[in-house]
Amino acid sequence: MHNLLISSRRNFIRSTAAALASAFFHWNFFSRKPDESFWFLHADSGASWEISDPVVWCLQNVNLPVLVRASEGLRKLTTQDGDRILRLVTRRCGLNLIEQSPGNIVVSYWGQTGLADVRPFFKKHQLARNDVQVFLKDRKKEIVTSHTGDNFLFGEKLATDWPLDHFLMKWRWRFLFQTDDWTAAPETWSGYSWAGLEPNRIPWAALKSAWRRKNAISCRNCDRPTILANFGEPWTAFFRRSPRFIYVCSACRRSFREESVKDVGAWIAVNLDSQFRPGFVMNWDQKTPIE
Ligand SMILES: [Zn+2]
Repeated sequence: MHNLLISSRRNFIRSTAAALASAFFHWNFFSRKPDESFWFLHADSGASWEISDPVVWCLQNVNLPVLVRASEGLRKLTTQDGDRILRLVTRRCGLNLIEQSPGNIVVSYWGQTGLADVRPFFKKHQLARNDVQVFLKDRKKEIVTSHTGDNFLFGEKLATDWPLDHFLMKWRWRFLFQTDDWTAAPETWSGYSWAGLEPNRIPWAALKSAWRRKNAISCRNCDRPTILANFGEPWTAFFRRSPRFIYVCSACRRSFREESVKDVGAWIAVNLDSQFRPGFVMNWDQKTPIE
């Protein structure tokens, strides 16, 4: 019985793999679903355009600059060579083929470096959701990996225990003083120190001061304001401090690093009222008073 189970399971796996392979790797335009649409996404430029039949489109547009590196091969092929044509244009032209049907996306690309940044496409078509199934199909290795659409949101996913509710509550009270405003906001690390506070931690009072300036960036996923969750310039290597500005979006629960601030001292002078500015700069674990 045990052996029988194993062997039938093996057969099941084999037949499932075969079915997957035939569905994924043999291009058959006539097996398309009625509500399916096709797009090419150019990895280098990020441009995307809809096509009704990708194979026919490639054969008819052999002279377009985007197909120039496949044009010689394409001229020898016909509509009977659908799968070869798609392999050719993903390999030579940096194109990704996106097959879209409700709740389901297949992205075909060539090799590790051939996958385009699909995030802008997913955003535009509202596909970066956890109820969208995404199959990434590497035509070089003929490997398919399965994901959900929300893996293609911009930014970093917040840890489940990240204190978002605490930040939101403090943010809502940013125009009012609360008795615990001179305690450290969790998850902060600034490279500065405020009197009476654990080094590197940012007091809520200072965050509130910055929040009142309305300087938050927009979420790249939701296009709504984010909340500043960290600022400063902590030590990141033996001889180096690096600006660390982090914004979080409460709607998509993603965090974003903002790289545009180069002069953190100047940022502090503009964005924090004087009574909320740090008193010390950290030199590793040593505090040096700021003049
Ligand atoms: Zn968002």
